[in-house]
Amino acid sequence: MKVEREISAFRSELAVQRSQDRRVGLVPTMGCFHEGHLSLIRAARAECEVVVVSSFLNPAQFRPGEDLSGYPQSEERDRSLASECGVDILFLPDGAEMYGDGFKTSVAVSELNDKLCGEPGRRGPEHFNGVTTVVTKLFNIVQPDIAYFGQKDAQQARVIERMVEDLNFPVELKVLPTIRDESGLALSSRNSYLTAEERARAAEINRSLVLAEQLISSGERDPERIDRVVCEKLREAGVKLEYFEIVDSQSLKKVDRLEGEVLIAVATYVGMARLIDNSLVQVPEGKEASAVRPREVVNV
Ligand code: AMP
Repeated sequence: MKVEREISAFRSELAVQRSQDRRVGLVPTMGCFHEGHLSLIRAARAECEVVVVSSFLNPAQFRPGEDLSGYPQSEERDRSLASECGVDILFLPDGAEMYGDGFKTSVAVSELNDKLCGEPGRRGPEHFNGVTTVVTKLFNIVQPDIAYFGQKDAQQARVIERMVEDLNFPVELKVLPTIRDESGLALSSRNSYLTAEERARAAEINRSLVLAEQLISSGERDPERIDRVVCEKLREAGVKLEYFEIVDSQSLKKVDRLEGEVLIAVATYVGMARLIDNSLVQVPEGKEASAVRPREVVNV
């Protein structure tokens, strides 16, 4: 496995490895690998001849006061995990390499960047603008055939999908299922902030999604009623809620009535950690009780 920190050196190395009919797969990350990241890397390894993983803690997607300076990092461990998974090139640029002097450009996906986590007062649209700007840079630097993202960050995936379509990036996106621990808690680098007690509490987040799915299965079509039941349960469990919303999976706008494909999205604070999770649900037609198609649950 090659490790490159400079864009020009990375490009030279990739030029050596890229040749006709060799598909290049990119897995963009912020490092501190867990099984969620590794599931994307393994998928890339299975489908592409050249696997590039980028690890860049992108300051542009953090607000002042967020956890940029304390964000967990583990370069040595990441290097050995990447190597074990068969990564060809690990790209580790620093801030100066990605945002040189005089950097002025921003890519914004309007109307999707200001919903859910992007609402002003939450992480805000600037968070997603930071994501789409850095992903644009990575797509231009790497020019991958396929790029891999996690359903764990559903809004991020949706925003990037829209951007790829709008800006004609010649890349195929793959959005893969959320990897969870045995309690159902979605793996996240931020889980390392949790104490054992907080970790047990955080397991309620996924249970709240399961509860919402069960209510939909039993025929409930009023998002407000689901909201009341779920929020009450989370409050009782001691999980501080930033939001719980049921939105249209494409527009990310809140729905008045459940139909079609909806995204149930939740953002919480548990101890020091801001944790998000979601479930994509195809609402059964008609009002009678009818089980929603079970989510693909992948536990490590
Ligand atoms: P991050 O390093 O947190 O920016 O994540 C890098 C990629 O891994 C993103 O596409 C995430 O959606 C994805 N990812 C993070 N956590 C998980 C998880 N638990 N399961 C699947 N993918 C994940």
